[in-house]
Amino acid sequence: MAKLSLARGYIDRDELTRMDSRALASARASSQARFILVSGSEVAVDPQDPQSLLKLSRDDAAMWGTSSSAYLGRDAQWRYFACDVTGQIPEGDVQPPRVPLMRPVRFWAHEWNDVDTALAVSGVAVLQWRRDARFCPQCGEPVEVRFSGWEEECANHHILYPRMDPAVIMAIHDQNDRLLLGRNAAWGPGRYSVLAGFVEAGETLESAVRREVFEETRIPVARVEYFGSQPWPFPRSLMLAFNGWTEAGESDLAVDGKEMAHAHFFSRDEFTEELRAGTISMPTPTSVAASLVQDWLGTTFAEVMAR
Ligand SMILES: [Zn+2]
Repeated sequence: MAKLSLARGYIDRDELTRMDSRALASARASSQARFILVSGSEVAVDPQDPQSLLKLSRDDAAMWGTSSSAYLGRDAQWRYFACDVTGQIPEGDVQPPRVPLMRPVRFWAHEWNDVDTALAVSGVAVLQWRRDARFCPQCGEPVEVRFSGWEEECANHHILYPRMDPAVIMAIHDQNDRLLLGRNAAWGPGRYSVLAGFVEAGETLESAVRREVFEETRIPVARVEYFGSQPWPFPRSLMLAFNGWTEAGESDLAVDGKEMAHAHFFSRDEFTEELRAGTISMPTPTSVAASLVQDWLGTTFAEVMAR
């Protein structure tokens, strides 16, 4: 069973080339260079084969500004760069091949191979940060990009690095191995997920898990076990997933009705029945939430629906 879609895949980030401006320029100009196109949190896919990212040669990518592209790393064959085309893709009825065919990473990445997923996630993350981090947080001066986007420096030599915000996401189990799912008040009817929240300043991950669950449902969590992590660069989260166990039950759950509209411990049978009936819906397959729920379920949502 697939676990943590966006955490699949490995790319040698090749820090030595990244930090050596001459080596970087030569990699960028070489016939081994391949450029992916990133617009916001979308990447271009190959219009002939939408299961693969579009990877352009230097000449084909020239119109998209290769000189400011971010170096993502290398494999045995290629050197990969990401061009930021945010704001450059005309909107409306213009179709490929005149414009690239863009796909939101968060809804499509589970269909791509491991390397393409790693490239898409890194490209979106580093370019998003570069667009957002325009001024030094220490002195307010504008910053300049270094190392093809993996550092920035202001006139007073303060250095900035791409940051991600840690967020916890947790599958909470009761004593009968039922799973706690909640419906956020801002979501449409029937949409449920596991609970999640940002780690606060000065807090441990385990404390954040227990605090978030208590804030949202008023139940205490005892044992907490790490499950895995994946980047979620929309715009810049690092999701840290846990399983947790509680001695509390259904009658102990209390939601505020403002942030959390409803919370409930689902048995596997109940969950399966409701999912198939369409009375509940689950988060996108690329999400950590989907991985946590499917791990508890022992099968995938797709398999449940296909039965
Ligand atoms: Zn500064």
